[in-house]
Amino acid sequence: MIRIISIFALILLYQLSAAQSPCSVEAYLERAGDNAKVLQLEMQENEAFTQQFILDQSWKLAKAQESTYTIPVVIHVFHWGDDGLIDEQQALSGLQVLNDDFKGLNDDWDSIDAEFDSIKASLDIEFCLASLDPDGNPTSGIIYHEDEAALTNDMNVKSYGWDNHRYFNFYLPKYAFGDSSDFTAYATYPALATVEAQDDGVVYSSIRWGYGSKSIVEPGHDWVSVVTHEVGHWLNLRHTFQDGCFGAGDMVDDTPPTEGGTIIPEGCYNFDGSCGVSTNGSNYMDYNHGCKKMFTQGQVDRMLAALQFPGRIGLWSEENLIGTGCLDLPTNSEQEHSFTKVDCFPNPSDSKVFFNSEDVIEELTLFNLGGQLLESHQDLANAFSLDVSDLPAGVYLCRVLSANQISAIKIVVD
Ligand SMILES: [Zn+2]
Repeated sequence: MIRIISIFALILLYQLSAAQSPCSVEAYLERAGDNAKVLQLEMQENEAFTQQFILDQSWKLAKAQESTYTIPVVIHVFHWGDDGLIDEQQALSGLQVLNDDFKGLNDDWDSIDAEFDSIKASLDIEFCLASLDPDGNPTSGIIYHEDEAALTNDMNVKSYGWDNHRYFNFYLPKYAFGDSSDFTAYATYPALATVEAQDDGVVYSSIRWGYGSKSIVEPGHDWVSVVTHEVGHWLNLRHTFQDGCFGAGDMVDDTPPTEGGTIIPEGCYNFDGSCGVSTNGSNYMDYNHGCKKMFTQGQVDRMLAALQFPGRIGLWSEENLIGTGCLDLPTNSEQEHSFTKVDCFPNPSDSKVFFNSEDVIEELTLFNLGGQLLESHQDLANAFSLDVSDLPAGVYLCRVLSANQISAIKIVVD
C-alpha cells in the first residue's frame, strides 16, 4: 500500500513539475492553444524521422565532409527607457556563451565527472548574428524595441519577429515571466507549423542573458547557460527529467533517467540516484544551474536530426546565409541580394501546382512534414508545374532555390 501511495505521490510530483516547467513540451503545447493538435501530429512525424535518422549511419559520413552548421540570429531587446536596456556588449556575451557551450569551448568542459566525460559531445554549429535584415539592409542584428508592455512580456513580443524561415529570433524582455521569477526562458520545439505561425524562437529574461551591468548572473556562473538549455529545446531536446524514472523520458539512450523539474540554482548532485542510477546533473537539459557543462552524443545526434526538419533546414542553407549576411557571396560581393517572390498556385490543389519565379529556378524539392525528401527537380526555367495528383492529401513543404534566393512554400494537397 505504501508503495502504491509512493508511486501516486511521484506521479503527482511529476505532473506538478511538468506543469510548472515553462520550457517543457507540455507547456509548449499548452501555449499553442488550438494549434496543439497540429503541432502534436508534426512532432510525431518528426520523431519518426529522428529515430530513422539516428539509426542510419550514412549521415555521419556525409556530415564529416560538411562544414559548420550556421544559423542566422536576430536578438530583440525590449526596454522602457533605461529599464531593460542591455547594451550590445551584454547581448553579444549571451550569444558567445551559447556558441562556446555548443562547441565544447566552455571553461568547465574539462571538469565533467569521469562517469559522463566519455559521453560528452559537442555540435559544430555557429549562431551568427545577422548583418543583413529581411530587406537586405545592413543591421547589427541586435534590435531595440521601446515598449513598456513588452518589458514584462505582457504582450505578444513575437509580433516584432523577423521571418522565422530565415532568422532564429531571440526575444529579450527584462522579465519573461512578469517578474524576477526563478524561471528564465522558454523556447519553441522545431515545428514548421510554429515557424509558419511566426511563433518560433526563444523568449528569455534579459536579466540573466550574458554578463554585463544589467545581468544579475555573477561572472562565470553557469546559470548563464540557460540559453544553451533553451536552444537545446529549439533543436528538439527534452529535459533529462522528462517522465521522471518512467516512460519514454527524453528519447535519448545515453542520458540516465532522473527526477527533477524544480529550479536548483546551485550544484550538480541534487537529484543524484533518484532513479537508482547516477544523475547527469551537469547536462544542459537538467534544471541544476550551478554546473551546466555538457550535452551527450545521443543528444547531439538528436539535434543533428532536428536541423534536417522542414522547420529548420532552410535556415542554414547557403542561400539563406548569404541573404542574412552570415556568409559572404562566393563571387561578386557587390551583387544585390534580391529576394523576389515565388508565385505558387493553385494552393490547395489536387492535380498540378504552378510555380512562377523572376529568377530561373535551379532546384525545386518537395518534403513531407516529417522531413522526408519526396521529389527533387533541377535546372528548371522561370516556371514549373508540379504534379501532386498521386500524393496523399496533406501538407507538404516545397523548397525553391534560385541564384540568390531560397523560398519555403507550404503546399496543401486536397
Ligand atoms: Zn527546459
